[in-house]
Amino acid sequence: MNSRAQRLAADLQRLEADFLLVSAPVNVRYLTGYTGSNGLALISAGATGEGRFYTDFRYQTQSAEQVYEYFEREIIAGGDLLEAAAKTLAATAAGSARRLGIDEDHLTVKQYERLNELLPDGWELIDCAGAVERLRAVKEPVEVTHIRAAAELIDDILGWVCEQGVGGHTERDLAIMIEHEMRVRGAQGPSFPSIVAHGAHGALPHAEPRDVQITRNALLTIDLGAVLDGYCSDCTRTFATGEIPPEQSDVYAIVLTAQQAALQALRPGMSGSDADAVAREIICSAGHSEHFGHGLGHGVGMEVHEGPRLSHTATAQILQAGNVVTVEPGIYVPDAFGVRIEDLVLITEHGHERLSHFPKELLAIS
Ligand code: ZN
Ligand code: ZN
Repeated sequence: MNSRAQRLAADLQRLEADFLLVSAPVNVRYLTGYTGSNGLALISAGATGEGRFYTDFRYQTQSAEQVYEYFEREIIAGGDLLEAAAKTLAATAAGSARRLGIDEDHLTVKQYERLNELLPDGWELIDCAGAVERLRAVKEPVEVTHIRAAAELIDDILGWVCEQGVGGHTERDLAIMIEHEMRVRGAQGPSFPSIVAHGAHGALPHAEPRDVQITRNALLTIDLGAVLDGYCSDCTRTFATGEIPPEQSDVYAIVLTAQQAALQALRPGMSGSDADAVAREIICSAGHSEHFGHGLGHGVGMEVHEGPRLSHTATAQILQAGNVVTVEPGIYVPDAFGVRIEDLVLITEHGHERLSHFPKELLAIS
């Protein structure tokens, strides 16, 4: 049994599911190693539980190369994968009523109805949404290695941006240059559309880069991440393109203090809401409670936004060693300017390890 399937089988017993049907491509990839688009995995909860993987004939070669040995592969020539999985279930559990765990977050209503139709009488569908995501939130050392490399690549890109300079470029230009450079340096691509926003546009946390020249004497926020070996990174730095008013450098200092305080506090056993509160208190007591409208951070892994969440509502999200999360407080003053500083960090047994290493003092860029 492979270790991921083993951890999953233990969780399924807790959820009182006999099997779990996994359909979300990212979850199928995590469990089976398969990176193609049409695949389905079925895991049984027993200690000696079996794993089965279904795909169609187009992926015969790819799945033979990628799918972990633990899984028995079934190549479907015609018909659909759900039908094949239902057949397996009917054959394994002939005569006895069973419970099939499904992921309601990812199964469509149509697929749900089809499963109900296909399964013999006595089968019950139970929602096990989040079961694979909970495993994915705690990274294995090999996954941390990939994320660390993806974070290092972003450190390098930020250094490259400083060398290149931003003068004469539009926000959109610069975003395209950044993403091109990521690919040149080995990334599969950006982990999300890069954000390049200066001046008043920086007050939008999810600003889309515009065809507008980056002007001097403004704050410039660059939020970027790369996908490397299937794992994402995420990092934000805010630069000054020359002289900025003292109000803006003061805000920068507040965000940096909040960011560093939250980092210092991070440790296993802490809730996502407690982590958020550390940064939020500093920002609020500096008079900017209205200007920090998003959560402190999020998990990062095969997807750029995954568990655990760090926000004021994340009281039930308890940090564990092996979580990889962002710490990204910001202050956004509408129609004026914005500052965000974001690091990617690994939660360790005793605290945290920073995976983003680009300097955080306010740097001038021209
Ligand atoms: Zn980011
Ligand atoms: Zn982020």
